[in-house]
Amino acid sequence: MVIAQDLMARDLIQRDVSLRTFNTFGVEARAALFARIGSLRDLQQVLVDPRVIDAPRLVLGGGSNILFTRNFDGCVLKVDIPGLQREDHGAFSLVSVGAGENWHAIVERLVDDDVPGLENLALIPGSVGAAPIQNIGAYGVELAERFHSLQTWSIDSGLLQTLNSEDCRFGYRDSVFKHEPGLRLIVSVTFALPRDWNPVTGYVDVENELRRRQITKPKPRDVFDAVVAIRKRKLPDPALIGNAGSFFKNPVVSRQQRTELIERHPSLVSYDIGGGRYKLAAGWLIDACGMKGAVRGRAAVFERQALVLVNLGGATGAEVLALAREVQDVVRVRFGIELEPEPRIV
Ligand SMILES: Cc1cc2nc3c(=O)[nH]c(=O)nc-3n(C[C@H](O)[C@H](O)[C@H](O)COP(=O)(O)OP(=O)(O)OC[C@H]3O[C@@H](n4cnc5c(N)ncnc54)[C@H](O)[C@@H]3O)c2cc1C
Repeated sequence: MVIAQDLMARDLIQRDVSLRTFNTFGVEARAALFARIGSLRDLQQVLVDPRVIDAPRLVLGGGSNILFTRNFDGCVLKVDIPGLQREDHGAFSLVSVGAGENWHAIVERLVDDDVPGLENLALIPGSVGAAPIQNIGAYGVELAERFHSLQTWSIDSGLLQTLNSEDCRFGYRDSVFKHEPGLRLIVSVTFALPRDWNPVTGYVDVENELRRRQITKPKPRDVFDAVVAIRKRKLPDPALIGNAGSFFKNPVVSRQQRTELIERHPSLVSYDIGGGRYKLAAGWLIDACGMKGAVRGRAAVFERQALVLVNLGGATGAEVLALAREVQDVVRVRFGIELEPEPRIV
């Protein structure tokens, strides 16, 4: 029995695997061990493998929010767990999705199946299991607003747990998982989608796009199409130019800090987020420092959106990281603000 289990685990584990095609920056890094996890059974088998037991582990989805700056001397657990189930519960449809499903494909499928609610989050790359990690958000909607619960596997204790919204401690591009990387693997996520759907079109880009299309009473598919069109215009396609979307979070400052900044920089872009706090547009700060379009070797600040760092072709993760540090330095010197990277840096 032990021998049979060991043989199966050995089938799942590969040695010395290139991660270049497993991260949207397209940077080279090698994993000493690599296993595709298609089920809880796969996970259990891999975690008891003698080569993996004491090795560092890294959970990987679509690799669209991660920057590899070195080889990974442990086991990469590439989450491929499939599945989608739906139940109607009163005012909500509860939709449970396997962590390995592609986020955008699920959003589109739900819109097509008349279970809307996630359409503002269309075209965000990556997997469903990674979406709660930074509480993905775009165009006026955050995952937390459509979240019901998730199942995690504790990598150390081997316990399967269901966590609700409170347990996940969602914040702006933040959750409990961001502060304890590697402790848990998200197996599935359940969304609560209101059956009485109302479009979220307050975001100025969405509003303008719908107006341009002469749509006054948008259906879910209209919002989906509008978001997809806006994103295609604004953001670089990782299939063509390596990137991880926004590289920095928008910094949040107090009212007093904002007032002082505006005195010195009257065109500063900021949003009132309540409680005397203001979110600053990190892209504006970077642009104001003259860094938009800056090229350093094979890494660059994207010429159309200063918040995005790109791999022009053949860049190493270290080159991208050096550029990120330079951006942080110039913004700190000019504005006294610390930009925080959004992707995980390995
Ligand atoms: C062009 C582009 C546009 C983007 N736009 C947005 C946007 O509008 N809004 C936004 O919020 N993000 C955006 N992103 C960032 C990214 O798409 C999201 O953060 C996405 O959720 C990452 O998914 P992933 O599967 O690729 O995660 P990965 O990059 O594989 O992993 C990210 C982190 O999550 C962990 N992780 C992954 N899967 C699991 C799991 N099953 N269990 C536990 N931990 C896990 C990893 O260990 C890592 O720490 C964009 C990225 C790109 C490239």
